[in-house]
Amino acid sequence: MKMIAICGIDCYSCPARLAFVNDDDALREKTAREWSSQFDADIKLEHVNCTGCTAEGVKFPHCEHGCTMRKCAMEKKLDHCGQCIEYPCEELADFLTHVPEAKVNLDSLR
Ligand code: SF4
Ligand code: SF4
Repeated sequence: MKMIAICGIDCYSCPARLAFVNDDDALREKTAREWSSQFDADIKLEHVNCTGCTAEGVKFPHCEHGCTMRKCAMEKKLDHCGQCIEYPCEELADFLTHVPEAKVNLDSLR
């Protein structure tokens, strides 16, 4: 099963979603530590809660407020970037080079 985010990431298997749905503090702690180092950010345990990019409910703060692709697609009233006539725009293309599985997901939805 997959739950594809606007950017193509599979939210279903994202640790922030899994930590939220399973109320798993050990996974929250591990994810906060790993993402803080990976993204050079101060990610706290309480940030690691998310229902998924397009689902109702709590969001990981970066995905809710910091993701320009999500904002852009929502302004265009698209369900995901794969529906966009500019797909893949420069910003998305740059992101997809780092997350190739997200490109596979978006390509499969086109
Ligand atoms: S929207 Fe939430 S579940 Fe999806 S990638 Fe971002 S943090 Fe993970
Ligand atoms: S321009 Fe299109 S492909 Fe690029 S971020 Fe916006 S919606 Fe996504």
